[in-house]
Amino acid sequence: MHSDDQIFVRLMEAKLADIRTTDMLPEELVALVERVLPIQIEARGAARVTLPDRSSCASDEAMFAGSPMVLREHFPHDQAQALSLFPILLEVLAGTGGAASSAADTLRSAIASGELDPAQALRALSAGDDELFAAWRQRLPESPRALNFLATSALWPGLNAAALALAKRLPENLPHERGHCPLCGSLPYITFLREKEGLRFGACSFCGHEHRIRRICCPYCDESDTAKLKLFRVAEYPGVSVGVCETCNMYVKTLDFRQLDKGLLPALDDMASVALDVLAQSQGYKRPTLSAWGF
Ligand SMILES: [Zn+2]
Ligand SMILES: [Zn+2]
Repeated sequence: MHSDDQIFVRLMEAKLADIRTTDMLPEELVALVERVLPIQIEARGAARVTLPDRSSCASDEAMFAGSPMVLREHFPHDQAQALSLFPILLEVLAGTGGAASSAADTLRSAIASGELDPAQALRALSAGDDELFAAWRQRLPESPRALNFLATSALWPGLNAAALALAKRLPENLPHERGHCPLCGSLPYITFLREKEGLRFGACSFCGHEHRIRRICCPYCDESDTAKLKLFRVAEYPGVSVGVCETCNMYVKTLDFRQLDKGLLPALDDMASVALDVLAQSQGYKRPTLSAWGF
């Protein structure tokens, strides 16, 4: 494993230990992430992605006007790797016990009988087409996001490898008036502040790219009128605030890296602060994006 990846795994272990002490999430879910994340990090290092020609990407001019570099359905990824990760992740899911295990059994049978085609699920996820996933959420009420989890987690290593490479092509001083990802156009699942001056970034819910956004704005509808935006914090979660938007009725959590002593790992910090999601949702606000693993 690459030394950066080892640092990552140590940070992951520290964060998971914190998540376990809060008792907010079922142990099966924490254990699932603990097994899946190292698989994904290793796969990202091994992913083979073919980047599109610059001529088939948005021009600098179009990107300055707000177009993403590549549309989500054309975003490069490693399809062969994602297909080979699918059964591996399915076995990990099967090993977690409880409802997730029986959901994994049902999905495995559906794949064996030809009823479910993993390649089709991966294509639907890339295209942002929820129909197939919605059908499986209905069929697996005890573990509704099992297929979302498999497809999202299998696709992520290749997508993120591509995002890391494509980010090097982004023009400098790209404006950041809009909340969406400049590489793929998807919405962030969480935002965070870093560096002394507290620059704000969004973590893309599709490709994982971390992109600058305005400090005061709703990343979902781009509202920036402070009369429409409210911020709240909870003493038990220092370093995390929840921004709610009266215009689109969405909320987003913002992590303040400067107050988080262990370093930032947005996907896990999102999990660790799930109590704040419960609170925001109890006030009627919604979250338009899922966790980094699709649940
Ligand atoms: Zn993206
Ligand atoms: Zn909004």
